[in-house]
Amino acid sequence: MNKDLCNQCGACCQNIRLDLENRILYWDGKKTLDDEFLSMLYPINAVDGIYACKFLKNNLCTNLNKPEVCCMYPSSPFAELPDSCDYRGEIFILNENIKHRIRKLKEEVIHYSAIISTISDKREQNQLNKIISAHKKIIDKYKDYGSENW
Ligand code: SF4
Ligand code: SF4
Repeated sequence: MNKDLCNQCGACCQNIRLDLENRILYWDGKKTLDDEFLSMLYPINAVDGIYACKFLKNNLCTNLNKPEVCCMYPSSPFAELPDSCDYRGEIFILNENIKHRIRKLKEEVIHYSAIISTISDKREQNQLNKIISAHKKIIDKYKDYGSENW
């Protein structure tokens, strides 16, 4: 990830979406919300789960000990990026690459599932079944991001 693209618009620290009940931070993909991160935030729209960070001053971070998740942001192809963020292009490409890979795996699952019934050799059948279940495991890994519809 190219780390020089930040234009310091500050939008990512003003619009942080949380699921407090399940302690999920959606800001940089789905991450578990920890107490350190939670303690920095105040509600903007608590009903919709939107928070902002108290350390943001004049669009700049004033937290000298900012959490690792801040130092890494955006690190996930599923990061929720504001319109003003200059990482949008890069994250879009990473996101599309993953979707492309998942679509290829799905095609292979369909292909192997179709030919498996035409094979009489049990060993070959087992091998194909193993490939199918390995592919499905990878597809499932992205279920939370909607992989079943890609
Ligand atoms: S600590 Fe700094 S980088 Fe992290 S959310 Fe707050 S203002 Fe943003
Ligand atoms: S939204 Fe993007 S460009 Fe703006 S401060 Fe955050 S990382 Fe930087």
